[in-house]
Parts: sequence; C-alpha cells; structure tokens
Amino acid sequence: MRSTPGTAVFLLALPSLLAGCRPTVSGVHVGELRREIAGCPVPLTDAALDDLATYQVCSLPPALSLLVRNDYADDELELPDLRALRRHAGQVPRSAFEAQLRRFVDPLGVLAAFVVIDAERGLLLPDPVLVPEVAVPFAPEPEPPGSHAAACGGGACAGRLVSPVHPERPYRAARRAELLTAAAPDRPLAGLRVVLDPGHAGGAFGVMEERHVVYRPAPGAREIVIQEGDLTLRTALELRGKLAARGAEITLTRDAPELVHPFPLHAFRPFAERLLRRIVLDPKYAQLERRLSAQDRLRLHAALAVFAVKKQNRFESLRWRARAAARADPDLVLSIHYDAAPFPTGERGPQQVLAMVSGFPDAGRLYNPFYRYRALEAAFAVDDFDAAAHLGVLCVRAMSERLGFPVASENRYPDHLPIRDAHGRQLGVDAWDGALLRYLDAPAVLTEGPYVNERDEMERLEAALAAAPGTPGTHIELYADALASCVETFTARWLGSERNPFGPM
Ligand SMILES: [Zn+2]
Repeated sequence: MRSTPGTAVFLLALPSLLAGCRPTVSGVHVGELRREIAGCPVPLTDAALDDLATYQVCSLPPALSLLVRNDYADDELELPDLRALRRHAGQVPRSAFEAQLRRFVDPLGVLAAFVVIDAERGLLLPDPVLVPEVAVPFAPEPEPPGSHAAACGGGACAGRLVSPVHPERPYRAARRAELLTAAAPDRPLAGLRVVLDPGHAGGAFGVMEERHVVYRPAPGAREIVIQEGDLTLRTALELRGKLAARGAEITLTRDAPELVHPFPLHAFRPFAERLLRRIVLDPKYAQLERRLSAQDRLRLHAALAVFAVKKQNRFESLRWRARAAARADPDLVLSIHYDAAPFPTGERGPQQVLAMVSGFPDAGRLYNPFYRYRALEAAFAVDDFDAAAHLGVLCVRAMSERLGFPVASENRYPDHLPIRDAHGRQLGVDAWDGALLRYLDAPAVLTEGPYVNERDEMERLEAALAAAPGTPGTHIELYADALASCVETFTARWLGSERNPFGPM
C-alpha cells in the first residue's frame, strides 16, 4: 500500500464523527483527539518508545497528522554534490532531457527558477548561482533535430513516454552482452541481478506500521487478521525461488518480519524533539492546544512524538532498503506491496492491480536542493525510465491475467501521473514520487497486489498464508508467478533485441 493518509482508512477503523462534535479550525475533533491520545504515556521513556504496544494505544487523528509537515525527515538529507551530474556529459540530447523533464519529472516547470538550460551552448547549469562551474553538456541532437520531443506541445504528451535516447542501440549494451554470454536455454535469467523488496515489516511491527487489518465478519465470529508486511514477505520468498530456478541472482531487502535498519526505535527521539519544537510554531496547532486540559496537552505531545518516531522509522527503513538495493548493483528492482480498497474494510467490491515507477515529484519538494538533484538525475535517465515503465506494464498485465483482476484504468491518486499508450489509454503504471523509488537508480517497479481489506480477498489471502509456501494457485503464489513471468518477458525482450525495445507504447 502507498503510504499516504488516503490509504490509512484501511485499518484505523476510524470512529465515525460523533453528532455534535464540531471540528476545531484545524479540522480536528477534540472528542476524537482525546480518545486517540488517552493511552499515550507521559513521560515518554525510551522503554515506552521501544515498546510496540505504545504505537497501538497512542495515535493521532488523521487531520492532526496532516498538520505535521510530512517531509521534515527528508529535510535532514545531505546536500548533493552536483558534480556527480557530469557523468551524464554528452549522453542525452537536450530535446530528450527537456521532454522527460516536462512529461514526468517537472510538469509544472518549478525547476526553471533554479536551473539554466543553455540551448545556445548545449549545456545544463544545475545551479548557475552557487555552483556555476558545474555545467553538463548535452549530446548532439539526433536527426531529424528534436525528434525526441516530436510534435508534442501543451498537455498532449502528459504521461507519454519519451523515445529512447539511442533507439538504434540495445538497452544497456555492455550489461546485455554479459547476460547473453551467461544465459542458457534452461536458465534464461542466468546472472540477472534482481533486488526484491518486500514492502513494510510485518510480524510484531505490523501494528506500528498501520498495515494490520482486523475484521470480524459477524458478532461472535472469528476475527480475520492480515498484515501487508507478512503477505509481501511471503510473496518475495516465493518469487525468489521462481527467479532463482531460472538462474537469476536475488537480493532481498529483508527476509524476515523485521525492520531493515539496525536502530532501536528510541534512537529516533531527536526527530520527535525537533517536531515538537516546530509544530508549536504553527498557529493552527496552538489554537487546538488551547482547547485541551493540561494533562491532555502532555498526552498530545507524547502522541506527536510517537508519530514522529514512527515516521522517521519508516523513512529510515526506506533509505536502508535503497542502500541494500544499490549495493547489489541490480539490473532491476521489484518492490512488492498489496493494496487497500477505496471502500471500507470487510465490504465486497471490485479489485484492480497497479504498478508505479519513479517520477512526478510533488512540486513543493523541488525547492529542496536534494530533490532538485534527484529530479535532474531522473531527467537524464530517459532509457531507464522507459525500461521501468515497460517492466511495470508487463507485470500488471501478468498480475491481471493470473489473479483475474483488471488493470487499474482510473487514477485514484492526485499525486500519481498515469503512463499512457499512443491512444491516450492508461496502462496501469503510474509515475509516483514514492520514497523508495526516489532513492533508487536501477529500473524499479513497485507493484500493488490485490486489496487486502476486500471481504473475499481477505479469506483467500488468509488461506494463502496458512498454506505451505509454494502451494500452487494461492493468491500469493499467483502474484509471485506473475512477477516471475514479467521479469522473464522483460529480460527476453532486452536480450533479444539489437535495438532498444523499450520506447513509447
Ligand atoms: Zn504497501
């Protein structure tokens, strides 16, 4: 599942708003707030921060968690060394760079205020004010000039892939040659380095991650309990077996229900302190605080601190996953998730499958120099973006076929940019600025499997987890099988083509 407030519906079983309970100016219902924070520990000791029960009994209403700046953790990132961009010197024509920028990286044109594209001299100046000595030359324009951005003005090209930079050459030619040498008929993926990232942590951490679905079908009936982090792990382990049998070299970002970084949770206390110092400066927050008793204010501070620790933990986990992936120097990365339905837990409703690739950053983030740097890297990476989009399309089609659920055809998310085919139809793969995708350099796809909170699917997934690993035909096995098949099809197209096969669809 995506980690935006919209998907949180899923498990929090938020109480419906009580009649007569009016929201404050900041949209927070004081009655609801009091209930959420009633179990928050004061004082918030390190032992309490390390105790997962704290995260279960101490939470924030969604309206208040939205008040908390949601990227403060990322603000701590080191400033990038823009000289690293010089490795793209002479690689990408300006027309392709600008087309990728306009279509997927910066559709609103925010970067124009920071970056200079010198058309006359064919140079990118990533920071002409503070770092004028860094200039990255573009490649000569192909014939005919500007063919990368061909006839594609205004919004007509939103979501449409840019043509490969060198369509006449194979994709990643050197790596392709190595893999062709290694491949054998019974081992078509020999030597292919694949990173599998089972999303979330699962196990005891499921409650803290809010990826923990509890549903009782009827009063007195047995509860169904499902955690996304357990499903993703099992899917990744089954997928590892399938890909390894075809010769691929697999790295998992985690192979157990655990956090992927080595820190105890109380290590994130400094972020909690920083959050508390910041949020009290927000007039909306102050207005809310004034309506609380002294004791409730202390509990609210504890709830905010717990929230900050939870967020920092999640952010740190994603960074560690990205680092583990980078160490493996992968040919491709699959981050495996299950989705949450847009309807309440336990209802029956239509399913869909969806995938994401990196792109479409929130315009507000591009004021942060770290994100600007990542955005410029992304604008140079036209061919990897195309390859990732193709892999994503192959994966959602295979998932749809195996699981019998349609590929997503409508965009439910304002922060997604659906990728479209030549006729403008959505392909079920969106550009999205997810934290893990943002930090990865290899072609990476995040897949969203079935809705874990749909009534019938809950039972199927519960049965799949209870079955022996690898049992054919469960929804976990079918999902893993779909991903194995898309990796195989993608690799066959890559290795089988003397040209770059991953252009616009
Ligand atoms: Zn997820």
